[in-house]
Amino acid sequence: MTNFAAGAAQPTSPVRLADRLNNVETSAIRELFKLLGKPGIISFAGGFPDAALFDVEGIREAALAALAAHPGAALQYGATEGFDPLREQLAAFMAAKGATGVAPTDLIVTTGSQQALDLIGKTLISPGDKVIVEGPTFLATIQCFKLYGAELITVPVDGQGADVDALERLIAEHRPKLVYLIPTFGNPSGATMSRERRRRVLELAVQTRTLIVEDDPYGDLYFDAAPPQSLLALSAEVPGSRECLVHCGSLSKVLSPGLRIGWLVAPPLLLAKATMCKQFSDAHTSTFAQATAAQYLAAGRMPATLARVRAIYAQRAAAMVQALRDTLGAAITFAPPQGGLFVWARLTGANGRCADGGVLAQRAIEQGVAFVPGAPFFARDPDPATLRLSFATVDEDRIREGVRRLGVALAAAQ
Ligand code: PMP
Repeated sequence: MTNFAAGAAQPTSPVRLADRLNNVETSAIRELFKLLGKPGIISFAGGFPDAALFDVEGIREAALAALAAHPGAALQYGATEGFDPLREQLAAFMAAKGATGVAPTDLIVTTGSQQALDLIGKTLISPGDKVIVEGPTFLATIQCFKLYGAELITVPVDGQGADVDALERLIAEHRPKLVYLIPTFGNPSGATMSRERRRRVLELAVQTRTLIVEDDPYGDLYFDAAPPQSLLALSAEVPGSRECLVHCGSLSKVLSPGLRIGWLVAPPLLLAKATMCKQFSDAHTSTFAQATAAQYLAAGRMPATLARVRAIYAQRAAAMVQALRDTLGAAITFAPPQGGLFVWARLTGANGRCADGGVLAQRAIEQGVAFVPGAPFFARDPDPATLRLSFATVDEDRIREGVRRLGVALAAAQ
């Protein structure tokens, strides 16, 4: 028997972590979030929708209707693929935005689109596989794909989204397992791909037999005009492209992230394997949440909810854009967002000002305002001068006050 008596050599820890954890570290952003509890902080740091805008009454009614209509199914175990009435509603939701060729059986419901991304990683990525992502891209995708051992390659993003010429070269050079894009109001870039670029991505996918993953949680949050149609909708115009396309959707940013309703549209083989993996993971997404979401969509409440949140986010975005211009002037450059939750900006270093987002983030916390430095959003070659500012959860007066504090922080960071 092992001798655990005092003085005997301590046994090694029984917790011996999997090698795959060596590929990821806790994000710098999480460390920053710990400081956000400080009283009086104005936070531009989160990626959350505003809880004050949730349609609590509508969701309450939908939850009651779900229990009335499906008292058993809403509380019982359910099919891994998802609750059929919700799959039908989600197919109709996408069809209303031009993606008419998606049958309810072409999608599975996931526990947030985050789970869809995890299932994509689990089913497709073996250690050492190359994956192209935008530089910058969604941090959790970077971490998730790295956990599965992906070697990430970045395609640059400009005001029109991912640079498709560069993408073409990178695909030819690396033959990636997949390309992950957020074509509409990217997180963190805020950028939206033009229709032309979208078509070229689809053509490229067909020509090179490359799988494209479209992550689209923000497409409904436009301000003035609707963005170009999703790759999923446009795939109807490019023969053969549907089989090269995976699409992740989410109700988090438009309805409630707490419901954890996302979905995955994928070619049949991938959908079957993702369903199998989901079965081993959480069996199914909460049936109660699914039945509630199905009732909410069926009640036809979504258009009014969207109109309301779009108008408020548009005002907040405009307030932030104006305040940044007035207060920071030449010290910062950015493209005013057309939708989504973020302003993605770059410090210019003009007049000897600070050009390091990480340094400014520290000074900003001291001044009572928080944002996220942009560097961690790059899987490779981080641009230290970048910042992500969310306007979503702060009212216009506080936005102006927060940007004023940012100006003070910038002066202090020189
Ligand atoms: N993709 C992107 C680009 C996101 O920004 C987010 C949430 N911040 C997600 C996916 C995950 O969202 P959820 O799991 O809540 O659907």
